[in-house]
Amino acid sequence: MIDIQAIRKDFPLLQQKIYNRPVVYFDNAATTQKPQIVINTINEYYQKYNSNIHRGVHFLSEKTTEAYENARQIIKNYINASFQHEVIFTSGTTESINLVAFSFGEKYIKQDDEVIISQLEHHSNIVPWQMMCERKGAKIKVIPATYNGDLDIAALERLFSDKTKIVCVNHVSNSLGIINPIEKIIQISHSHNVPVLIDGAQGIQHQPVDVNKLDCDFYAFSGHKIYGPTGIGVLYGKEKWLNEMPPYKSGGNMIKTVTFEKTIYNDLPFKYEAGTSNFIGAIGLGAAIKYIENIGKQNIFDYEEMLLHYVSEKISKVPGIRIYGTSDNKICVISFLIENIHHFDTGIMLDKMDIAVRTGNHCNQPTMKFYGIEGTVRASLSFYNTIEEIDYFVESLLQVKKIFA
Ligand code: PLP
Repeated sequence: MIDIQAIRKDFPLLQQKIYNRPVVYFDNAATTQKPQIVINTINEYYQKYNSNIHRGVHFLSEKTTEAYENARQIIKNYINASFQHEVIFTSGTTESINLVAFSFGEKYIKQDDEVIISQLEHHSNIVPWQMMCERKGAKIKVIPATYNGDLDIAALERLFSDKTKIVCVNHVSNSLGIINPIEKIIQISHSHNVPVLIDGAQGIQHQPVDVNKLDCDFYAFSGHKIYGPTGIGVLYGKEKWLNEMPPYKSGGNMIKTVTFEKTIYNDLPFKYEAGTSNFIGAIGLGAAIKYIENIGKQNIFDYEEMLLHYVSEKISKVPGIRIYGTSDNKICVISFLIENIHHFDTGIMLDKMDIAVRTGNHCNQPTMKFYGIEGTVRASLSFYNTIEEIDYFVESLLQVKKIFA
């Protein structure tokens, strides 16, 4: 069980009134709020210890280097990676996927090869693969979805050929909140000897992630969506791939030796961390993961599931509402339209009522096209949201309906 009132006090932004009342923050899929401990950790490191990592022999540099590597260790344990050096710090999910698309593509993909992605991907798990395919003369194949937002796994089986080089799917779809059967997708792909990248941007904060058990080859996520700072993210990769692939960016830190004739790259994980990384962001992300662990992952997931059942039941009573993504395998995301009301209008009206939701295509244009719509209103909840906020949200939707009638 979680103590919701105590938890809410940990998040200073939630105490804030935007117009007349404390904000109801239902835009957690876009970014999450930060607990005080994360803000304090970042402040503390800037105020007391700021100094570049892996470069100095002085106290300050050793202190930040130790904290940075400790954050890597925290993340390694959180996702149950085999080695600390399988955790690469990036700027976020987008960069993690770009890294794999570039480096894996350079090494393994050639003319006429195929990459499998799904109908329901975020643009960050489409465009990097498209760019790589254009470079290499390879092509993309798409796993179709069913109308309720599940992927058609039987169709996946039929997409494989001897040209398939990698499968890239999201753990949880950001516009619909549907949890994909990634265990099954990995198992099927591996039976064809094809590695799998999981875009975990919407997964890791709501679902257990054990990369060893999953046996995924890559898992990407963003710090800011898991209560950590912006500008920091993670790419987990199996040691074998990370060792074999060429680096994605080059410069300082990623080298062992440099002469004008030749550069020898550094060992993992530094081979993929060229330049000064966002080390204070990484330290802040470590603090965020510790915070989650203190509350208890399972407590969080159970509470969020209770919120999902409550909001699904309540919102279904709003006349003229249409929910997109009705599969049972969901996180607490409700993507919807109200009959005859444009999603932007709903979003603007809700904002005036101190409710923050996301409107638009959610960087999922192919998903919107699949449903024949331009966009939706998306309410995405987190473990600091409450039943009372859901009640107020649904009452506000009824108000919006009345105003537009
Ligand atoms: N993938 C998914 C499923 C997402 O929801 C997002 C962001 O919303 C991203 C990738 C990109 O994440 P970021 O912008 O943090 O790199």
